[in-house]
Order: sequence, then structure tokens, then C-alpha cells
Amino acid sequence: MEKENCTICLYPITNPICIDCYLREVYAWLLDNEVNKIHRDFIIDKIRNILSFETLNEGKCIICGRVGLNICTYCFFSMTERLLKEINFSKKLIENFNETFNFKRDEESQIVRTNLVVSYEKAN
Ligand SMILES: [Zn+2]
Ligand SMILES: [Zn+2]
Repeated sequence: MEKENCTICLYPITNPICIDCYLREVYAWLLDNEVNKIHRDFIIDKIRNILSFETLNEGKCIICGRVGLNICTYCFFSMTERLLKEINFSKKLIENFNETFNFKRDEESQIVRTNLVVSYEKAN
């Protein structure tokens, strides 16, 4: 099957995961770091608003099976990181965020690597 492309950066989506599944991971991270409920809900709502585009993609999320992936791992986490900075999360928390999800783009192959998928694969 041909890989579909991210709506934002236009690179192929190498980790087929939907926004809701990403958001669940971010929410768990916020809980782990004792971010209060008002901030948690604000962040999740805000990310969902920014990143929920209409898409014609037909790829399926490997976690929940939902159809219609529209964004790559890199764009999701870098956008979330930017939002956390904007609302003045401490440097320590931002570092923790980056270590937890460890998202980065392999510049040669354009593949995004992240701890998120590694832990998903382990669980299965
Ligand atoms: Zn992207
Ligand atoms: Zn999903």
C-alpha cells in the first residue's frame, strides 16, 4: 500500500497513528507530570482544534483502527512542544516531554522515529 502524506509537511506518514491516539499519550504524560486538570483540558482541546483537518487519506490508525490519518508524528509532537512553550511550561518539563516521546526526523530517509511506536510494538 502506498504511504499517505502528512497534511502539514507533506512527507509520508511512517507511523500510522491518529490524532486521538496521540492525544491519549499526551494526556497520560500530563497526568504523570501532575499538570492540573484545567491545563490538561486546555492543552488537549487546543491541539485538537489546531490539528483536526479534513483529510482524504484512507490510512488506518494502527492503534484504534480509525480511518483518515492526517498528520505525521514529527508534526504532531513538534506542534505540541511549541504549544507547551507558548503557555510557559518549565524548561524541565519540555525536556521531559522530548525525552519521553523522543521524536525526531531522520533527515536522510525522512522517517520519523519516536519512543511512542517503540512502546506500542513492545506491548504487542
Ligand atoms: Zn508532518
Ligand atoms: Zn487511533
